[in-house]
Amino acid sequence: MRLHNSLTGKVEEFTPADPGAVRMYHCGPTVYKRQHIGNFRAFVLADLLRRTFEMQGRSVTQIMNITDVGHLTEDDVADASGEDKLQKEAARRKLDPWQIAREEEENFKQDLAVLGILPAHHYPRATEHVPEMIAMIEKLLEDGHAYEAEGNVYFDVASFDRYGALSGNTLSELEAGASGRVEQRSEKRHPADFALWKRDPKHLMQWDSPFGRGFPGWHIECSAMARKYLGDTLDIHTGGPDNKFPHHECEIAQSECVTGQTFVRHWIHCGWLEIGGEKMSKRAGTLYTVPQLVEKGYSGADLRLYLLRQHYRSPLPFDLALIDEAAKTRAKLDNFVHYEMADRPEREDDPAVATAIETAQRDFAAALEDDLNTSVALAVIHEFMTAINRADPGAADAARAVAQMREFDQIFGVLSDAPARGDDDAEIDKLVAERDAAREAKDWARADELRDALGERGIELLDSPDGTRWRRK
Ligand SMILES: [Zn+2]
Repeated sequence: MRLHNSLTGKVEEFTPADPGAVRMYHCGPTVYKRQHIGNFRAFVLADLLRRTFEMQGRSVTQIMNITDVGHLTEDDVADASGEDKLQKEAARRKLDPWQIAREEEENFKQDLAVLGILPAHHYPRATEHVPEMIAMIEKLLEDGHAYEAEGNVYFDVASFDRYGALSGNTLSELEAGASGRVEQRSEKRHPADFALWKRDPKHLMQWDSPFGRGFPGWHIECSAMARKYLGDTLDIHTGGPDNKFPHHECEIAQSECVTGQTFVRHWIHCGWLEIGGEKMSKRAGTLYTVPQLVEKGYSGADLRLYLLRQHYRSPLPFDLALIDEAAKTRAKLDNFVHYEMADRPEREDDPAVATAIETAQRDFAAALEDDLNTSVALAVIHEFMTAINRADPGAADAARAVAQMREFDQIFGVLSDAPARGDDDAEIDKLVAERDAAREAKDWARADELRDALGERGIELLDSPDGTRWRRK
């Protein structure tokens, strides 16, 4: 299994500590408002990794945190500043931040279910792990990697040689960049020193600590929760492209200074979602949420396939036309399983079917083992369907082809369980039967008339020696 590692910038052999078990940590949502479709790219990637490892017969432990405190609005600079997102939203909506956090966590889990994302094994909340964070901060203070200043505790970036290894940032560049910023914190030793603990008497979510009353920084939350549930070294840590710096850079610094161990063996980040050719940022504010897209008529499976069709590291444009294309592809897969392979005649087994299954299995696995190449894997499925249709299989072979499609769907997760039934199915069945009767009576005019009428309703007829089947176009 080869995977891209953001730390080295290369596609590398993936070697978990235990080849049979993979331990993964995924940066989860900050639950101050509903996540938009772009945010789910990272969560679908986490799901894809889990499903691929399980297909390979490995056991997987997935931890995804819920950030319900400490994530500040200005989060793309070395030391975040601004307001706590939860606090700001609570003030805007005149609500309790705890209430917003729980509601949005619920919304998030609903959206995950709509997108067919398997639930992680645990969703630890930051607010329920403050003692673990305090313990790490105390250790960092003890070992001289952190210092207190005016009620805040900062990580001393100069005390960690490898700071910048993930993002490529150097301390001197960050210092030069920071000198242009208006808001400089004079109590800090280096402008890139970031907050582990913050004092803010106005904050509605606060805890007592040896360094005074306050709240934790966003980065220390993930270091503490990852360690608690997965140990000192994780096999995989994932996130969105915007998490790489400063969030993940800071997680590495904190965790490695506390444990003296490598924090993460393999860092995996998805590519950007682009709007109008520009990288999507959280401030864009124009992106749809999952329920908004469902209201537009897309199914969760359509949205899931839209997010999965493109290789996870490529930029993905946000464009409804691309979701339409994904919906068409999904309908094609469903059609194959529920219509093209249904009601087949009894025939002898065809060796061409067995060959097609074998080839597709091999190529599908190889595509995923090559840095999760889902676009190639999807092409393999298309070729498979073409080969099977060409073989015109009997019932037993068709059942094997369908079983194989279901196996591929352990990864893609987009096939529906049963054929799509409409309110007018019985009526259509009747018209199709009437047309069959007309054909039998050699009343071609009547048969054509019925076919045209059905065609206008979007019904396609599939004639075969064993009778007529139909499907929605
Ligand atoms: Zn995180």
